[in-house]
Amino acid sequence: TSEFHGKHITVAGLGVSGVSAARALAGLGARVTVVDGGDGGALRERAAGLGDAATVRLNDADTLPEGTDLVVTSPGWRPDSPLFTAAAEAGVDVVGDVEIAWRLRGEGAPPWLAVTGTNGKTTTVRMLASILEAAGLRTAAVGNIGTPIVDVVLSQEPYDVLAVELSSYQLHWAPSLRAHSAAVLNLAPDHLDWHGSMKAYAADKGRVFEGNRVACVYNTADPRTEQLVRDADVEEGCRAIGFTLGAPGLSELGVVDGILVDRAFVADRQRNAQELAEVSDIHPPAPHNIANALAAAALARAFGVEPKAVRDGLRAFRPDAHRIAHVADVAGVAYVDDSKATNTHAAEASLAAYESVVWIAGGLAKGATFDELAAGAAGRLRGAVLLGADRALIKEALARHAPDVPVVDLDRTDTGAMAEAVREAARLAAPGDTVLLAPACASMDMFTHYGERGEAFAAAVRELADQAGPGE
Ligand code: ADP
Repeated sequence: TSEFHGKHITVAGLGVSGVSAARALAGLGARVTVVDGGDGGALRERAAGLGDAATVRLNDADTLPEGTDLVVTSPGWRPDSPLFTAAAEAGVDVVGDVEIAWRLRGEGAPPWLAVTGTNGKTTTVRMLASILEAAGLRTAAVGNIGTPIVDVVLSQEPYDVLAVELSSYQLHWAPSLRAHSAAVLNLAPDHLDWHGSMKAYAADKGRVFEGNRVACVYNTADPRTEQLVRDADVEEGCRAIGFTLGAPGLSELGVVDGILVDRAFVADRQRNAQELAEVSDIHPPAPHNIANALAAAALARAFGVEPKAVRDGLRAFRPDAHRIAHVADVAGVAYVDDSKATNTHAAEASLAAYESVVWIAGGLAKGATFDELAAGAAGRLRGAVLLGADRALIKEALARHAPDVPVVDLDRTDTGAMAEAVREAARLAAPGDTVLLAPACASMDMFTHYGERGEAFAAAVRELADQAGPGE
């Protein structure tokens, strides 16, 4: 039996993750109460669906149920929520799903290779899983993606190793997690409303390195990630491994003449670097994606994977939808869907991958500013088409930093605006250009999520292609 047997566990939030946590914990013999501030019809239905597994308390998310031994959070609950304050006052721990999963690992459980960062997590974790598979290892990409991590751990599938994506929220609530090795890809302001400050956000990301046994992987181009390695308390012998888009120094992976090379995990570190793969093996071979591949390779190499499997795994990898996905070429113009670029740091990376761009952007800014992005992209922009709730912020930044770039302000926030945006972008574009949807904003002002936004873009592009007729 697990440590949760017979405990009174309060789950915060009757959402998808709350329901799955409640079920899993009840299955382990815990007495579960789920609390939620709402009391609408959907919640009542969900409560009924839980049946005898849990007691549900609606309409009160703030007070701690009597006798609670442990509180389990849901994503979206702020760390300063009154329920958590009450728990702290009562000396009751608050943890997230990753912590539960970690504590449930039994004897001989597979080690975790963990990935966090502001952008590129999902891509890197999938690349890593692809490399591990190419090496003949039984693995799964889990965490912030795919099957809930508690379910994966409870499934008792005989994995050799897990590739685990961790958000800053999950890390915040996972104090005892100790990865085999971990990588922080990059660190840019995001979700600051939740964490309170950049410092708190960075500290949560840095937790991924705590107690690492073999390697802490950082980005040499982002000194903040290296600082997190220095600040971490790791096991003796654990090494700091950098990745760089340039030629690697010692203890680094990097790129030389279009070839990914490893100078960190070679037998004689003074000797020749080991060749891992070619840049052309990576899809797409954009700079930020090469960085993701290097980070994945570093983690795989830390786990003992041979160079050939790195190459095979990267070759086999294909990005998830809406991440720099090439939709079509119409009249010599490439149309690319990077709807997943939901913050400025991500949009900056995808804009940097193209020489001449008509940029479609806008949505919910989440408190971001756009000056740096506009200034950095100015030289590459053929034009910009703006839509969504906070488009004025981008328009103003472009006016300041790229005054010569033609901007079409659609002044629309309805779902149909995307089709008009694509038509306007097509008008601005010249052969050889790329029309890039990289909104630098969240999508919820116009769509249910970034996937739907990307689909709307792709549908509009296909319509454009149909009108352009055959031959494309
Ligand atoms: P996450 O899981 O961290 O959200 P994804 O792998 O889903 O990251 O990529 C999200 C978006 O971030 C991509 O569509 C791309 O625009 C951008 N991106 C991916 N990797 C990086 C990186 N290493 N640096 C900056 N931006 C990136």
